[in-house]
Amino acid sequence: ARSIIASLSLSTDDYEAIGDLMASSFEAGLKASGGPKPAVKMLCSYVTKLPSGSEAGDYLALDLGGTNYRVLLVRLRGSDQEPEILEDVYAVPQELMLGDGAALFTFIAGTLRDFLQANQLSAEPDGERLKLGFTFSFPVEQHGLSSGSLIMWTKGFAAKGVVGRDVCKLLQEAIDKAALPIVCVALVNDTVGTLASCALEDPRCQIAAIVGTGSNAAYVERRSAMERYSDSLAGVSDGGPDGPVVVNTEWGNFGVDGCLDRFQTDFDREIDKKSLNPGFQVFEKLISGMYLGEIVRLAIKSLVDDGIIFGGRMPESLVQPMTFLTKYLSEIERDPPKHYYSTDQLLTVDLGLKLVHPIEAVIVRSICEAVSTRSAFLVATGIASLLKRIKPSGHVTVGIDGSLFKFHPHFPERMTRKVQELCPDYEFTLKLSEDGSGKGAAAIAALV
Ligand code: ADP
Ligand code: MG
Repeated sequence: ARSIIASLSLSTDDYEAIGDLMASSFEAGLKASGGPKPAVKMLCSYVTKLPSGSEAGDYLALDLGGTNYRVLLVRLRGSDQEPEILEDVYAVPQELMLGDGAALFTFIAGTLRDFLQANQLSAEPDGERLKLGFTFSFPVEQHGLSSGSLIMWTKGFAAKGVVGRDVCKLLQEAIDKAALPIVCVALVNDTVGTLASCALEDPRCQIAAIVGTGSNAAYVERRSAMERYSDSLAGVSDGGPDGPVVVNTEWGNFGVDGCLDRFQTDFDREIDKKSLNPGFQVFEKLISGMYLGEIVRLAIKSLVDDGIIFGGRMPESLVQPMTFLTKYLSEIERDPPKHYYSTDQLLTVDLGLKLVHPIEAVIVRSICEAVSTRSAFLVATGIASLLKRIKPSGHVTVGIDGSLFKFHPHFPERMTRKVQELCPDYEFTLKLSEDGSGKGAAAIAALV
């Protein structure tokens, strides 16, 4: 058990090395022009100013890209007033995630129609269509704020006929076919939305990260550093030639060139092999909610196979893949040091295990701790690399969203500690910033 836990734990030097590798990947992504695709894509969001909080009006938003799909109406009410939000939440049916892309967009238009009906919404009084911000949390090469083609699916999505197509156009066509009075004015990655949402409350926000189903980050870059986009950004005047632009890093794909291979365990390699996108999103697979529970399950399985725990037999409830949920890590790690109430409860009552020896609970919890700590430290390493890239002169607020950060009892504290350790020279705070894909996307739509 010790060696398994050791293999899941990285050293201070490892994190330093990974941080340096990330810094080079960021640089390479920004510089890349033509040629082979960079590992970390550093995509232009075409968001060249952040909302200030004074934005007002009604905006629709869609959130597609994770466990839940949502349709929202966001009523922005200017300064100092929280927006009012109406939302419908759907679980995305598996057959739409993996089926025909056209069916996916028809489904979306259908939910919009239902939403307008249920909330008695129609075109604006002057006949203008309702403006919509489309949060689409996959790597997209944008051609402008409201157009962009899907580079690849991630996180369990694989709908056919969408890669390489303009997803804003596909959405607008489905909306028009359903004759809805809606116009998609902004295509937004959830990290970019989170940055906007955080900026509504805190003008010092310059970085945003997500640790949910997947992992990704966005930050404010100087436009002159985005060489690949210099032509398409030439017309933008916000803040002069060196004004801001939000970069969607797509850091989840860091490591695709093999630079993280030596930090991977056998469990990480197995997860990658069985995933829908083997070889891709290497960093994400070490970090995010879609994978952590399964890493723990595979580590348990290897101990069982060696006859070390559970009498050498995999418990019935954990035989199938993905049966050890990532939320169990939060549950188990909630126990204070040396106590095992939640761990025992989860293992024996919820999972129906018969613990033979108290050491079994200790081992399972140690595995969970190793896996979630590695995740938190890796996200921290990414944030530290971004801070070093920005070289801020003052305090930076980092907006963070996602269930791991929100619900895991030690995630925020571990992240803060690691960022401090990796870049002691900068002042920062990590701030839970919710609903980037609703509030944030609406605020970006309001800037159009
Ligand atoms: P998304 O990224 O899909 O927009 P979330 O931020 O809610 O949405 O992330 C969903 C992921 O978080 C899932 O992979 C799920 O396993 C994980 N998760 C859900 N609840 C918890 C929890 N309490 N603790 C840790 N992880 C959780
Ligand atoms: Mg989300």
